[in-house]
Amino acid sequence: VLGIKEDKTENPIAVEIDAKSDKIELTRADIELSRRKLPSYAAKSALLQLIRDNQIMVIIGETGSGKTTQLAQYIYEAGICAGGQLIGCTQPRRVAAISVAKRVALEMDAELGQEVGYAIRFEDETSEKTKIKFMTDGILLREALLDETLEKYGCIVIDEAHERSLNTDIVLGMLKRLLSRRRDLKVIITSATMNAAKFSKFFGSAPLFTIPGRTYPKKLIYSKSPVEDYVEAAVMQTVSIHVSTEIDSGDILIFMTGQEDIEATFDAIKERLAEVYSRNSSISTFNDIDNVEIFTIYSALPGDIQNRIFESLPSGKRKIVIATNIAETSLTIDGIRYVIDPGYAKMKIYNSRIGLDSLTVCPIARANADQRSGRASRTSPGTTYRLYPESTVEEDMFAQTIPEIQRTNLSNTVLLLKTLGIDDIMEFPFIDAPPLQTFLSSLYELFFIGALDASGKLTSLGVAMSRFPLQPSLSKILLIASQNGCSEEMLTIVSMLSVPQVFYRPKERMRESDLSRRRFFVAESDHLTLLNVYSQWKCNKYSHRWCNKYFLHYKSLQRAREIREQLKKIMAKNRIKLVSAGPDWSIIRKCICSGFAQQCAKRSGLSKYVHLKTGMDIQLHPTSALYGMGDLPSYIIYHELLMTKTEYACCVTAVDPFWLMEYGALLYDIKRVAYVNDSQRITQVDVQSGNLPQKEDELEHRLKRCIA
Ligand code: ADP
Ligand code: MG
Repeated sequence: VLGIKEDKTENPIAVEIDAKSDKIELTRADIELSRRKLPSYAAKSALLQLIRDNQIMVIIGETGSGKTTQLAQYIYEAGICAGGQLIGCTQPRRVAAISVAKRVALEMDAELGQEVGYAIRFEDETSEKTKIKFMTDGILLREALLDETLEKYGCIVIDEAHERSLNTDIVLGMLKRLLSRRRDLKVIITSATMNAAKFSKFFGSAPLFTIPGRTYPKKLIYSKSPVEDYVEAAVMQTVSIHVSTEIDSGDILIFMTGQEDIEATFDAIKERLAEVYSRNSSISTFNDIDNVEIFTIYSALPGDIQNRIFESLPSGKRKIVIATNIAETSLTIDGIRYVIDPGYAKMKIYNSRIGLDSLTVCPIARANADQRSGRASRTSPGTTYRLYPESTVEEDMFAQTIPEIQRTNLSNTVLLLKTLGIDDIMEFPFIDAPPLQTFLSSLYELFFIGALDASGKLTSLGVAMSRFPLQPSLSKILLIASQNGCSEEMLTIVSMLSVPQVFYRPKERMRESDLSRRRFFVAESDHLTLLNVYSQWKCNKYSHRWCNKYFLHYKSLQRAREIREQLKKIMAKNRIKLVSAGPDWSIIRKCICSGFAQQCAKRSGLSKYVHLKTGMDIQLHPTSALYGMGDLPSYIIYHELLMTKTEYACCVTAVDPFWLMEYGALLYDIKRVAYVNDSQRITQVDVQSGNLPQKEDELEHRLKRCIA
C-alpha cells in the first residue's frame, strides 16, 4: 500500500516509469497547448490593443495567469517593439528572473542568452541578439546610472509590482519622471490582485486591466493554538497528509522563511517518512520510498533551481515543495493541492532611530496569507493548513506588508539617487514616501562613511563607491584597502560576503563539519577566515573534490570566484589599484573597520557583547571563529545582525578601539584610558557612544536643510 520501491531488476515496469520521469520530453505542440490554456491567452487581443493604445498601464491577474511568461512574448510577436529595441521585464527576485527567462526561452524555442536572456547582479546572460530581457529591478536601476533615458528599451514590464520591493518602487518613480521625455517608451505594470489601484493612481489614472480567471473554493484549516515550533508542526502536517491521502490527489507546498529552516524541514520530513514507512514494510531509509520527491526553493543559489520542480511527476508519485515566499506569487508550480503556511517570513527591518538593520522572522500579512492559500486552489479546490489560530489573522496580522521602502535602510538608494543627480531627494516621486527619519539616518550613515559631505553632496569617495554594485560599506572597505595595500585580499573578502554560506553543515555530520571548519579559523576574524578558505581553495586549484572533503559549498565558492572577477573588472576600469598585503593581515582588519565602525559591539561579560551605538545585548554567532581565541576580544565589528530568539552578530572581526576612534569619531568617544602601553591598551581603553544624540541632532539639522 505504501509504495515500496521494488528491486528494479525484477520489476521492469518500475524501471520504465523511472526512466520516463527523469526526462519528460515536451514537444512544441505540448508547449503551445499549455500556453493556450492560460487565462492570459483568452485576453491576448484585448491586452495587445490596450498596449498599443496606451503609454502606461496596469495589468492585474491571478498568480499563474500568464503575466510573466506571456506578456513579453505577446508584445514581441505582435511587433510592438519593432525598432530593434528591447523588451525588458523586471523581477524583484533573482531566482524568478532566471527561472522565467529559462521558461520563456523554452517556449520560444530559443537558446537562453540569445533572443531571450536575463541579467542579475554579477551575471549577464544576454547578447546582441537579445530581444526579451528579464532582469532584477536592481539591474534596471544600475542601467539607469549609465543611460538615464533607458534608450535601448522600447517597452518595460515592471512585474510583481505588488511586492513593492524597494528597487521596484524606485524604478516606478524613475519611470514616472522619464515618461514625458520618452514618449515612445511603453511601461506595463503587472500585479497580483492586491494593491493594483495604487499604481494606476500614481501614474495619473493609468488604465487598469484585469485578466479574467477563475478561482476555486479554498478550504482553510487552522491550528487550535499557536504552535511551538513551526518546522516541527509543518513536518508533522506534511507527513500526515502524505500518508492519509491518495498520492495522486495533489502535491504539497510548504512555506518556510529561508534556507536554514527549509533545510531543516527537508531533513525532518525525510526522517519522519522513513520512520513511518518502516513500521509497515521493509523500508529503512527515505531513499527506499518511491512515491514522493522533495524539492526546495530559496534564493541563495539562484542558478540552482531545477526545472523538474515545474514538471508533473508520473502518477503514483507526489511532489513536496518547500519554498520561501518566492512561491507566493513569483513562481507558480502547477498541481499543488495542499499548502502548509506557518505564517512567517523573513524580512529586512531597519530601525532608523538607532540606525540598526536586521534580518528578522516576522508574521506575514493577511494579503500574503491569502496568496499562500490561493496556491492550493489554482486549478481545483484545495486545502491550506494554517499553523496558527484563526484569531491570529484578525488580531495579529497587518492587512498588507509594509512596503520595503518604509522599513528598510535606504543608504544604497540614497547613494544611487544622488549619483543619478537627484539632489533633493524628498522631491523624488515615491508611491509611498519613506519616513523622514529613515532618510535622515541613511544620509547620516552615508556621511559617516564619507560618501556625502556635511551639506549632503556626494564626495569623490561617494562617487567611487557608487561604481560598485555593492552596499556602500563594502565598496568603502574595498577602496580603503586599495589605498592601504591590501585590495587583493579585500576583493576576496567582499566577494565571499556576497555569496550564501560557504560552510556546509549537514545535520547528520554536524560535528565532523564543525571540526573541519576549525581548520580554516583565523582567530581574530571571520572575515579573515573567509579569506583563508578562499586562498586555500585557490591553492588547491579551485577543486570541487577539495570542497567536498572540507565541508565547503563548491557552488558558493565558485560564485565568489565569478563575483571576484566581475569586481576586479570594475576596479580596473576605475583604475583602483589591486595590491596584496602579503602575509601580514592586520592591516586588512583595520580596513574592514573603516566601513563598519558603526556596527560595533563591546564585550560586556564572559561571552556577551553590547551594541555600542544602541546598548542592545548581542552575542557572537555560535559558528564564529572568535570562539577559537582564548579570551574573546573587547571590541568587534560585525557584518550582519540576525535577530532570532537571540540577537546574533554574524561574521565578526576583532578591532582595536583606536581604529574605532579613527573611523568613528562622530559616534564614539574614548572615556577612559589607563596604562596606555602597547601590550595592555586594548583592555584598558573604554570606548563609549555617549555623545551620539547631540552630534546626530546637530547633523540632522544640517541634513534637513539640505534635503528640504
Ligand atoms: P503569472 O506571472 O501570471 O503569475 P506565469 O506566467 O508565471 O503567471 O505562469 C504561467 C504558467 O507558466 C503557470 O502555469 C506556470 O506553472 C508555468 N511556468 C512558469 N514558469 C515555468 C517554468 N520554469 N517551467 C514550467 N512551467 C512554468
Ligand atoms: Mg508572475
